[in-house]
Amino acid sequence: MKIPYTNIAAQHVRIKNEILSAVGNVLDHGKFILGNEVEEFECRFADLCKVSYAIGVNSGTDALILALRSLGIGPGDEVITVPNSFVASTSCVALVGARPVFVDVRDDYNIDPSMIEQAITSRTRAILPVHLTGRPANMTSIMEIAKAHDLDVIEDCAQAVCAEYERERVGSFGTIGCFSLHPLKTLNACGDGGVLTTNDPRLYERLRKLRNVGLHNRDECHFWGYNSRLDTMQSAILLIKLHYVEEWTEIRRAYADYYRRRLNGLPQVQVPNEKSNERCVYHTYVIQADRRDELKDYLGEHGIDTKIHYPIPIHLQQAAKYLEYTEGQFPVTERLASKILSLPIYPELRIDELEYIATTVCSFYDTEEE
Ligand SMILES: *Cc1c(COP(=O)(O)O)cnc(C)c1O
Repeated sequence: MKIPYTNIAAQHVRIKNEILSAVGNVLDHGKFILGNEVEEFECRFADLCKVSYAIGVNSGTDALILALRSLGIGPGDEVITVPNSFVASTSCVALVGARPVFVDVRDDYNIDPSMIEQAITSRTRAILPVHLTGRPANMTSIMEIAKAHDLDVIEDCAQAVCAEYERERVGSFGTIGCFSLHPLKTLNACGDGGVLTTNDPRLYERLRKLRNVGLHNRDECHFWGYNSRLDTMQSAILLIKLHYVEEWTEIRRAYADYYRRRLNGLPQVQVPNEKSNERCVYHTYVIQADRRDELKDYLGEHGIDTKIHYPIPIHLQQAAKYLEYTEGQFPVTERLASKILSLPIYPELRIDELEYIATTVCSFYDTEEE
């Protein structure tokens, strides 16, 4: 059996005709930039996240950059975030001229709230938690700390559309939520895309201008902005996919439950343990495994493709060298980097493939026993 880590083409088998017809409509009306589909998608996405406003942009990375810019965060400011993430959740801070300040994560991959306060200085402007793997960060604690210190919170929800903490959707807690619509995310465009969420009408207006070259109307510009609009074509496609995202999420959750039941008994493997106040959406299904590299090779030899999210913690990336963090400074993140392995998890994965993956993981450790 050959099982790829992702299979985007398989997602489109069922919905290809719907997508082609939506794309056809856009070709017919020709409003490729900020056509009606963009605002329609924004309204529906805001409903999905249970927030007042959503703003479509070019990518998840741009969503983060625009969020920081809209709050006036820049040179001289500090933003607290995690070294255990995709690089964009840190690069956005540096790209607006501010300084990323790292706080280690817990075993659940997300920011350790008990370590945030000691990282706060007079220059701190915001906390930027990441809902990594589609698991919500502890938003109750984070919002309490932010409130006590008068800080903004920018949620990196790139991996977490429809995830919930205490029955509230991510992207609705902080000042601004930032989502990615990259093809590999759980609500995916056929190309790049991103979206911001907020309940603040003034930020909504500012973000709409920031993503559209700062234009107040066709001819007047009140401040410099970016060209970072979500395409009409992508919005039309996303409107189709929005119909399926809850169903797809439930399948991911059922698959995660299957993996948990099959792998939980292995002493060499730690599976994600969802808490009762969390709804995880499993953008990735990350286990912590003894002899991780050997397991990865073994699975590869048996036709199963896996990934590591992420093998190099951000504070140890060459790009972060000037921040002068050293190895050993974030022990949980560093330990995780040597143990984590992402197993395939997507709605189009067949049940027999899922069973084969779980069985093959078990057989790797069985052979070890002999
Ligand atoms: C994917 C991702 C981003 C960036 O999104 P893009 O749409 O690829 O720019 C940011 N943060 C996290 C945690 C991500 O997974």
